[in-house]
Amino acid sequence: MPSVEIVEVGPRDGYQGIGPFIPTETKIEFLRRLVDAGLKRIEIGSFVSPKALPQMRDTPEILAAVAAVPGLKAQILVPSEKWGRQAVEAGAKALVFVLSVSEAHNRNNVRRHPLESAAEYGRLLEAIPSDVFIRLDLATSFDCPFEGRIPEEKVIALLEVLVPLRPDAEVCLCDTTGRADPSHVQSLFAACMERFPEVRTWALHPHDTYGLGLANVHTAYREGVRVFDAAFGGLGGCPFAPGATGNVATEDVVWMFDRMGVATGIDIAKLVPVAVDGAAIPGGTPGGRVRAALTSGQNACVAVT
Ligand code: ZN
Repeated sequence: MPSVEIVEVGPRDGYQGIGPFIPTETKIEFLRRLVDAGLKRIEIGSFVSPKALPQMRDTPEILAAVAAVPGLKAQILVPSEKWGRQAVEAGAKALVFVLSVSEAHNRNNVRRHPLESAAEYGRLLEAIPSDVFIRLDLATSFDCPFEGRIPEEKVIALLEVLVPLRPDAEVCLCDTTGRADPSHVQSLFAACMERFPEVRTWALHPHDTYGLGLANVHTAYREGVRVFDAAFGGLGGCPFAPGATGNVATEDVVWMFDRMGVATGIDIAKLVPVAVDGAAIPGGTPGGRVRAALTSGQNACVAVT
């Protein structure tokens, strides 16, 4: 049976744009329930400036608390060498190093040219133990809120600098604004996979801002991608990407792959109640369809057309 890995990013991407602080205990309880539903790999937070993203300020406490949760691979997003080192010192065993293909977006996030961030990535790799799992997140791989559509050559040019630094790193192309479309997803993954055969694992980070999240996931799957980010309840948004609302909902992705006969390892009956509670987090912007369909007594509904 074919299978995919769904990476739950709600606790990082979903929460980070929420104004009211979510109590740390609440975050930990959501993590336990997500693991119980079968989500074994979760982006539990980020090591970033607490001034820039106050919602993420308790990531060190959460990292310590979930170290004892069996079967959970907790990944931490970091935007620089400094924060990456701190995350590893705090016990992180899996890092996501994020940088943006778009210079304007990268400067807006971390006040650096993408090549300066790439140099930081190289220094971070030298500074941390080689058994720390590494993923590269290339934000704005498709589209940028400031620069518009990103030419494929720019993505490839940046990867030509990044991939040799750690050829076994997982590489995730991020649709930060949600403006990617299936043809763009198809052509960019095809071009990257052809150019970088040494990269073993490619991933897609889709947003559902314009309703194309699942179409993009499906297209990437057809291209051979087997790792997908998603957020329970469709929570999402990005404070650094104006207009980007909503990661694709985890329950929607699980539903689609279940229907296609592709294993996810996730129990949708357990996931939906967690997604319902996640969608109700005060200040959150939920998304997705399946949650409502599975909780509204739709079985009694007979379509008339
Ligand atoms: Zn995102």
